[in-house]
Amino acid sequence: MVMKGYSEVKLTELRRELHRHPELSGEEVQTAIRISRFLASHSPDRMMHHIGGTGIAAVFEGKMPGKRVMVRCELDALPIEETNTFNYRSTKKGIGHLCGHDGHMAMVAGLAMHYASVRPEKGSVVLLFQPAEETGAGAAAVLKHQDFKSIEPDFIFAIHNLPGYRKGEIVIREGNFTGSVNSIVIRLKGKKAHAAEPMKGNNPARAVAAIIGKLREAEIRDPLDPAFSLLTPVYIQMGSPAYGVSADEAELHYTLRCRSEEHLTRLEEDCIRLITQIAANHSLELSYSWTQKFIATKNNPMAIQWVKSAAMEHKLSIVEADLPFSWGEDFGNFTARFPGALFGLGAGKDSPSLHQSDYDFPDDIIGTGVEMFIAVIDKALEA
Ligand SMILES: [Zn+2]
Ligand SMILES: [Zn+2]
Repeated sequence: MVMKGYSEVKLTELRRELHRHPELSGEEVQTAIRISRFLASHSPDRMMHHIGGTGIAAVFEGKMPGKRVMVRCELDALPIEETNTFNYRSTKKGIGHLCGHDGHMAMVAGLAMHYASVRPEKGSVVLLFQPAEETGAGAAAVLKHQDFKSIEPDFIFAIHNLPGYRKGEIVIREGNFTGSVNSIVIRLKGKKAHAAEPMKGNNPARAVAAIIGKLREAEIRDPLDPAFSLLTPVYIQMGSPAYGVSADEAELHYTLRCRSEEHLTRLEEDCIRLITQIAANHSLELSYSWTQKFIATKNNPMAIQWVKSAAMEHKLSIVEADLPFSWGEDFGNFTARFPGALFGLGAGKDSPSLHQSDYDFPDDIIGTGVEMFIAVIDKALEA
């Protein structure tokens, strides 16, 4: 039997410790300290801190020069109250590790354990713990950071756990893996009036109703349609609870999702056209701004081939996704610059979905994630 260079017991402990202390995007200070401590105790050749905010990288040099392969995971949790009751549930009100980033960190920490005992034959391996994935800001900030230049990879990989697939199943797709996402903040301004004389003002309520209706009509919800597009309302606010006043202002926040950049551009244009028309019809001032853009993750064909061979070597079942997923991942910023791949690791058929209050990363897939990463990195280092 081959000796494992990592301990699943230790990684499970680390995962649960991270789960207990979740932090929001961009605020992952304690998480970064915990990760730094763990990495430092596995003697990397170099460590870097504060990359793009709270980001950390650990570099393990091989015995001979060669390619640099990076594995990326995410430090952040979500602004969602966890409803699980197990003893390692979140200790922070309204914040939870409900996307499994705690599990992704544990898998990448497993690589630190592995490379601490067995350095790569050649090249180098960089373990990147990225901040603020959920807001789409982290990857871009890391890429822009001065220190990132010294660790720019030849290839980059990441795993996302996927509820709805059998545990340990490997989910791949050549080309686009995740969708293109952009979010819009729409502001309408009319005129205040006495609530007894709304006709003397201009209340945006009907325009708000029209926007909600029209944007819903502009959706193509059939997941098999290549023009699949969602316009999801995430936040709507109008006026204030002052009962003598007819409202004059409204704000609507929507998230737009498509399978490709081309479709997203078209949907953005449609959205602007509709809201401009509606605001004009109701004589309201309109302003809008875009936020939290995620570009599609594009998987390199060679990189996906390595993932596939790695899965076959470990006798894991492989699912080739017909279509890109509709969620966004800011890993797209990395694959736009470097060849690489993001692939899925099944988290259980019956697992609650990502971002649900009762979701929890299954510890028994940590080892599979570590093994997959090691095998994929080996192939990339040989390239
Ligand atoms: Zn998420
Ligand atoms: Zn995630």
